[in-house]
Amino acid sequence: MNGGGTMTITEQLVLGIDIGGTNMRLGLVNDALELTAFERLSTREIFGAECDPAQKLADCIKNYCDRHIEGKMPKAVSIGFPSTINRERTVVVQTPNISCISDNLAIVDVLEKALKIPAFINRDVNDLLLFDLEDLGVADQGCVAGIYFGTGIGNSVMVDGKILLGHNGVASELGHLPVYGNHRICMCGNESCLETLVSGIALERIQKQEFPDTPIHELFATKMDTSTMKEFLTGMAQTVAAEANLFDPDCLIIGGGLLQMRDFPRELFEKGVHRFARKPYPEKTLDIRYSRPNQENGVVGAAIYAQKRMQDLNYL
Ligand SMILES: [Zn+2]
Repeated sequence: MNGGGTMTITEQLVLGIDIGGTNMRLGLVNDALELTAFERLSTREIFGAECDPAQKLADCIKNYCDRHIEGKMPKAVSIGFPSTINRERTVVVQTPNISCISDNLAIVDVLEKALKIPAFINRDVNDLLLFDLEDLGVADQGCVAGIYFGTGIGNSVMVDGKILLGHNGVASELGHLPVYGNHRICMCGNESCLETLVSGIALERIQKQEFPDTPIHELFATKMDTSTMKEFLTGMAQTVAAEANLFDPDCLIIGGGLLQMRDFPRELFEKGVHRFARKPYPEKTLDIRYSRPNQENGVVGAAIYAQKRMQDLNYL
């Protein structure tokens, strides 16, 4: 398994990590993308308050490896952050939902020194799209756009086998498109972002204001006859149509927590996407697919990202 007698690296496994605002998920992934030793930990407990986040993460990884591979190390660690990441994929620039992760954290450097294995970091939603491309069998297509309606709007776009990065590494922020006439303040600090209107956070506000007696996850199942919920669903459809009109993708992958709420009206939603997609194209050839809801997707996606980085030194 490992060539060098005294080496303590298990050549077959990558440790994939998916860090979210609430939970952090870890798992060991082999070259066939099979996952073992899946664990879910509390993000807040790992990072805590007033901590040294890079060092805490390194300690957490060491503990995990002690528990699952007897202190050996995987061949690499790959971590998805709910953050903006610099284009070189070395620094976590900004993480609005996890206060303890300080801005401009040079985490790759710290982890590689502490763990002595390669460390890769990525936007979590890019890792998610890398997983979905494989899982849905569309990795060979020319352009695929992923839109994930969760707390905010996650977005990632693949063009010719590569995730679109942009000049600074922050491309595909569909949720932060400014919307004319919208004056709400976004988590990102700007005014008028799309995700202040169409997202889990927005739906929570709508639930509190208009449907205080209905749990949020029941809104699609029980309130689709109201103009408020019709309008909200239209907003989701317009968001996807905007992406389709912008990129003319071979396929659109839709996912996230809102899609998993009970009786999410897929048919009505797709009708809306067709209504707002430009005619005749891209409307005529729209190919809408759905991400399979699974907690492990981001962990496996992180491992796919590590594999790509290790196979091609120019891949970011
Ligand atoms: Zn914003």
